Amino acid sequence: MFRSLVLLASLALLATPSLAQAPEVLPDLDGDPVVLVVHGGAGTISRAEITDATERAVRGAMEQALRAGHAEIVAGRPALDAVAAAIQILEDDVEFNAGRGAVFAADGTVRHDASVMDGASGLAGASTGTMHVRHPILLARRVMEASPHVLLSAEGAEEFALEQGLELVPNEFFHTERRQQSLLRVQERERSATGLAAPDPEPWQMMGTVGAVALSAEGHLAAGTSTGGMTNKRWGRIGDSPIIGAGTYADDATCGVSATGHGEFFIRLGIARDVAARMAYLGESVDEAATHVVGETLTEAGGTGGIIALDAGGNVSMPFNTEGMYRGYVTRSGRVVTMIYGDE
Ligand code: ASP
Repeated sequence: MFRSLVLLASLALLATPSLAQAPEVLPDLDGDPVVLVVHGGAGTISRAEITDATERAVRGAMEQALRAGHAEIVAGRPALDAVAAAIQILEDDVEFNAGRGAVFAADGTVRHDASVMDGASGLAGASTGTMHVRHPILLARRVMEASPHVLLSAEGAEEFALEQGLELVPNEFFHTERRQQSLLRVQERERSATGLAAPDPEPWQMMGTVGAVALSAEGHLAAGTSTGGMTNKRWGRIGDSPIIGAGTYADDATCGVSATGHGEFFIRLGIARDVAARMAYLGESVDEAATHVVGETLTEAGGTGGIIALDAGGNVSMPFNTEGMYRGYVTRSGRVVTMIYGDE
């Protein structure tokens, strides 16, 4: 915990606008604001634990997602188009705990959660516990745009996906060897744990959720998050990712947020909405609000994870209290930056 706090403190320092080398916040937007920021999950990510091939794959996928979203922005399309374009690419990549590479639930199935929110209209859509929708982020968007509801679950959500003509696939499409091994590892660990309660999840158990926040050419924000949740989740467990205000939030007047981490904490603390509330009520900048919520609110409660946050001026903040977080952004001019480790 102390190490994480030190890391956070140094990130906050790096984020001080007067330090020109800071990658976490653009100190000098110079007419080139950030228009899209993505994350691919927070957790135990250190150089010692990642192979060169994984690092290349993760950075490459994030870059591809950022470029796809950037194309939507420069074409003048809505922020939600950029969010969906970026997240769909990450959902198709087995490196991430979303779509195709999502983690297994305790019963050996893969069940997805996703959400979107539009900062201009305040509308939102989300789905939870789906097993056959190839791109859950598109379902969340259809819920927002084509249903009178905000959050649909399981069979009902899939019936709606079918009606909406979304691509459905067998659950096996999402089964990967790597995630199967993770499930076995977690189940073994739980069997050897003493006492009634399951042990706290390891940081890697919730690695790889994806999210994006975009700023359209017209100055509107949108955010989205997509995940398989936590390895070995039981009893229809739902995390923060499909919960508006916890894992995802967007409001043009403040910021857009997408979160990743131990979902139970993000739900209890209303993390995503809290960032926007601090900006609205306390007049904090997006970086002050995001850094406080992760560095103090989340950390003091014992939760682990991180967030990406973007305001309508193109200022970005990406704090986390884990060892690393897959993250990156693209500026209006097309400058792409990707980061993985805590010291980047
Ligand atoms: N927040 C997600 C959940 O709790 C997991 C993650 O971000 O990796 O379902």
